[in-house]
Amino acid sequence: MPGINSLAYLYTMETLLISGGSRGIGAAVAKLAIGKYNIAILYKNSKDKAEALCNELSTNGVIEVFYCDVSSEDSVKEAVSKVLKRFGKIDKLCCSAGIAQSKMFIDLTEKDWHNMFATNVDGVYYLTKQVCEGMLQRKSGSIVYVSSIWGEEGASMESAYSASKAAIIGLGKSLSKEFAPNGVRVNVVTPGAIDTDMMKGYTKEDLKEIEESIPLGRLGEAKEVAESILFLLESSYITGAVLPVNGGGIF
Ligand code: NAP
Repeated sequence: MPGINSLAYLYTMETLLISGGSRGIGAAVAKLAIGKYNIAILYKNSKDKAEALCNELSTNGVIEVFYCDVSSEDSVKEAVSKVLKRFGKIDKLCCSAGIAQSKMFIDLTEKDWHNMFATNVDGVYYLTKQVCEGMLQRKSGSIVYVSSIWGEEGASMESAYSASKAAIIGLGKSLSKEFAPNGVRVNVVTPGAIDTDMMKGYTKEDLKEIEESIPLGRLGEAKEVAESILFLLESSYITGAVLPVNGGGIF
């Protein structure tokens, strides 16, 4: 029986690459998927959190962390090539890295706009570009993008964020059609309000108001979104889907 870190063992397992794996929804995906895949998580600023997660999960499976600023094509190329060197191939990709910003449109600067798109849209494009070639050649692979309810509905004071999240819905739907003949599936989840660091900017009163406007009456948990992501990553006949994970919506 080959040891857990031997190449023979690593190459018998599929590899799941998770951007935004250092915290929140991406980290929850790693927690659910550990033991089923070799897991590569990407971090940018949260090296300590990524390493702590890695230590926590590594007793149950193979997981490694890699630095990557998804808004930089060079950084994505370097990270993906390190993951490929370590694990041989990437079978599944979850793009969860993202930033949010709440600002009136009239106050939004060009820099704000481009920062948002650099991470939330270019980052998804760079990762897909680097990972899809191997998938298309092998005629097998599965990709899930983490968009947002606001990418579908639009939100006041979140115009750049909403536009960026709408963009990756369009990208995911298009690629689902383009990649299908090669056996590569692409799906999108659109979470509502999920209890992660991303919601920390809201006051207690704001959060109460948001919760009251959600039919299920509470914020979602990262694990609940992760379950949907894993479901789509592992399904066999779903592609081009946009799956809301939002407790019924936000009104
Ligand atoms: P989070 O806890 O704030 O985590 C954000 C993650 O994105 C972190 O792992 C962060 O890594 C990573 N990240 C940000 N910029 C990056 C960059 N330039 N390069 C590499 N990684 C970067 O947020 P979350 O709630 O888990 O959000 C995950 C995804 O879900 C995002 O795309 C978000 O838009 C979407 N979403 C969240 C909610 C919600 O209510 N929480 C709702 C709808 C959609 P580092 O910390 O290592 O830099």
